[in-house]
Amino acid sequence: MYAMLPSASIRTHVPVPLRFPDGYATTARMFSFSGLVDGREHLALGLGDWSASVERAADGGPPPLVRPHSECMTGDVFGSQRCDCGPQLREAVERISGVGGFVLYLRQEGRGIGLYAKLEAYALQDGGLDTYEANLALGHDEDERDYTVAAQMLQALGVERIALLSNNPDKAEQLSELGVCVTERVPTGVHLSPANASYLAAKARRSAHTLQVPSAR
Ligand SMILES: [Zn+2]
Repeated sequence: MYAMLPSASIRTHVPVPLRFPDGYATTARMFSFSGLVDGREHLALGLGDWSASVERAADGGPPPLVRPHSECMTGDVFGSQRCDCGPQLREAVERISGVGGFVLYLRQEGRGIGLYAKLEAYALQDGGLDTYEANLALGHDEDERDYTVAAQMLQALGVERIALLSNNPDKAEQLSELGVCVTERVPTGVHLSPANASYLAAKARRSAHTLQVPSAR
């Protein structure tokens, strides 16, 4: 099923105990890879009983729960309130730990435009553009994320079928085209703050996210 995909292999894997600022703790098995198409250092985090979830799926049982998470240094590391990436990642780690599966941590900052360009896009947003218009104004596409390496990592991990933890229909579509069998799409929660309300509204409006964004005004 991954016939068209350049193959990657697991380079190393090692347990890493995680502790989040709110005190939630779990242990991830962190995987690195050889052969990822863009040469960047993407990570897979095996969470909960991930190995049982892979075996179970191979025997025809329910697939592992998987979230492809695109790197957001400002949100993931510094707790930026301009987006919901930090809380999304935190939620994904706990939910996947509960049932077994993977976070695929993809090094494509700012919808693929990079960290510096993302900060420039923020400046434009402060001038009135939404997150997608700002990317276009900088000469980028609205969304340059590519999930090829996510599919490569799944293949290397022996995962052919997944339950996809995401509100983004584009992720499911791209992964399916790459040969991943997405048996189910599991929605994530909405992490609203005064600073990210207009960002979430733009996301829901512009990219058909299945977000129910409550009125933030
Ligand atoms: Zn973010």
